[in-house]
Amino acid sequence: MSQNPYSEILQKQQKHFHSEIKNRSLYQRKVVLKNLKKWIKENQELILTELAKDFGKCREELMISEIKPVVSEIKDALRNLRFWAQDVHKSTPLVLLGSKAKVVKEPKGITLIIAPWNFPFMLAIGPLVSAIAAGCTAVVKPSENTPHCEKLIEKLIQEVFKPEEVACVKGGVTETTHLLDLKWDHIFFTGSPMVGKIVMTAAAKHLTSVTLELGGQNPVIIDKKTSLKDAAQKLIWGKFFNCGQSCISPNYVFVHESIHESFKIALKKEYKKIFESAEASNKTQSFARIVNDQHFLRVQNLLDKSLEEGMTIVAGGITDRATKFVSPTILEGLTTDKTIFKEEIFGPIMPLISYRNVDEAIRIINENEKPLALYVFTKSKSFANDIISKTSAGTTVVNDTTIQFTHPNLPFGGVNNSGIGKAHGEYGYKEFTNERAVLYQRRGFTSPKLIYPPYNGFKRWVIKVVTWWV
Ligand code: NAD
Repeated sequence: MSQNPYSEILQKQQKHFHSEIKNRSLYQRKVVLKNLKKWIKENQELILTELAKDFGKCREELMISEIKPVVSEIKDALRNLRFWAQDVHKSTPLVLLGSKAKVVKEPKGITLIIAPWNFPFMLAIGPLVSAIAAGCTAVVKPSENTPHCEKLIEKLIQEVFKPEEVACVKGGVTETTHLLDLKWDHIFFTGSPMVGKIVMTAAAKHLTSVTLELGGQNPVIIDKKTSLKDAAQKLIWGKFFNCGQSCISPNYVFVHESIHESFKIALKKEYKKIFESAEASNKTQSFARIVNDQHFLRVQNLLDKSLEEGMTIVAGGITDRATKFVSPTILEGLTTDKTIFKEEIFGPIMPLISYRNVDEAIRIINENEKPLALYVFTKSKSFANDIISKTSAGTTVVNDTTIQFTHPNLPFGGVNNSGIGKAHGEYGYKEFTNERAVLYQRRGFTSPKLIYPPYNGFKRWVIKVVTWWV
C-alpha cells in the first residue's frame, strides 16, 4: 500500500508538538499571533490585490469581511487568552471531602483546518488563530476554487511559521481525502453539509473530534408591524454582500401578505439607491462576481427554473456567463414546492414568500433542516421572542441580517445540518482545547476508603447514607 503523501507532515508536527508546542507559555503563543498580525498588516495591499483576482470582490468588502475579522480575532485572543486559558477551580462535594478539583485547558494537539472559497482568507486564517491561541499545531487546506487566495495563504504560512508548527496543503478533493485518512486530534471544517458528512465519517474512523461550520437555508420573517424601509435597506445589503455567496445570507423571505405590495415597493426603492439598476450593477466595482463557471451555471439554472415554475422578477434577473455576473435579483411567488426553495441559493437571488399566519411560516421553517441563521424584522419584541422560542437555529438576528458574524463575544455556528461546534473568540479557542478534569486527592485517610469492600454492616450503613444523601 502506498504511503499517504501527508503522513510526514503529520509526524513532524506530532514530534514538535510533544517536544515543544504543548509546553509553550501563553506569552510564546501570543508572540506567534503577533507575528501573524504583523504579516497581515505588512501585506495588506498584497492580500487585497490577490483576493480581488478570485471573484472580483471590491477592496471595501475585502477589508470588512476578510482582513478585519482576522485581525479582530487575533486582537481578541491577545487580550483575553490569559482568561480563556485559566484553570477553573471547582468546589468539592461532601463525598470527596479533602480533595481539590480543577479544569485544566490543554491543547488538543495536531489539527486540520479545511476552508471554503466564499471568504477564503478569513475562513482559513480565523480558525488558525483559535488553533494557535489554544496551543495546537495545524495543517491548513485552503479552497482550490480561489487559487490566488490559496497561493497567498501558502506564502503567509511559509513566511510566518515553521512547517512542523503550521503547514499549508494546497489542492482539492484528492488532497483533502488523503488528509482526512490521517489521524488528527481535531478537524475544523468549514463548507457544505454534504462534504461535512464526508469529513465526519472520516473523523469517526479515528474518533477525532470535529467542528463543522456548515451552510443551509436561512429564512427571514418580515412582520406586518415593521419599518419597511429599514428592513428593505438591511435585507438588500445583507443578501447581496459578497454577491450572495455567504453562509449566513438570507435564503428566502417570508413577507406578511398585508404588506407584500408595500414591501416590494420599499425593496425596489432601496435596490435603486444601492445598485441604480440591474444593468448598472454589472459596471459598479461594489458588487462581486460568482466564483466560477460551475457555480455560475448552478445559479443561472436556479433562476431559469424559478421563472419556468411561475415565479416573477421584482428586480434584477440579468446574467452574463462570460464575466460570471448575476445581477442582484429579487423574485416573488415562492412556494415550498419550487426548486429554489429546496436548495441553499449561494448567489444573489432573493425569493419572497407570502404568509398569512406566522405559525405557517414557523411550521415551514421547522419542517426543514435547522438553519445557520434566522432573521426576524418586527417592531414587536414578543413577536420576535415567540419565533425564537418556537424554532431552532445556529444564530438569530432581530431587525438586521449577517451582522452576527462580527460580534466577538457570540458563538458562531450552526445546529445539526448547519453545523456542529462553534467558532470565534473563546468559543473558537474551546474547539481546539481539551477541558481536562484534574482531581487532587489527599494521601492517607479519604472518605471513599470508608466504603472499600468487604461490605460489612457499618460500610453498608455508610453507603446507604451516602447514596440517600447524593
Ligand atoms: P465545499 O464543502 O464544497 O468545500 C469546502 C472544502 O472541502 C474545500 O476546501 C474543498 O476542497 C473540500 N472538499 C470539497 N469536496 C470534498 C470531498 N468530496 N472530499 C473532501 N473534501 C472536499 O464548500 P464550498 O463550496 O467551498 O463553500 C460553500 C459552502 O460552505 C456553503 O454550503 C456555505 O454555506 C458553507 N459555508 C459555511 C460557513 C460557516 O461558517 N458556517 C462559512 C462559509 C461557507
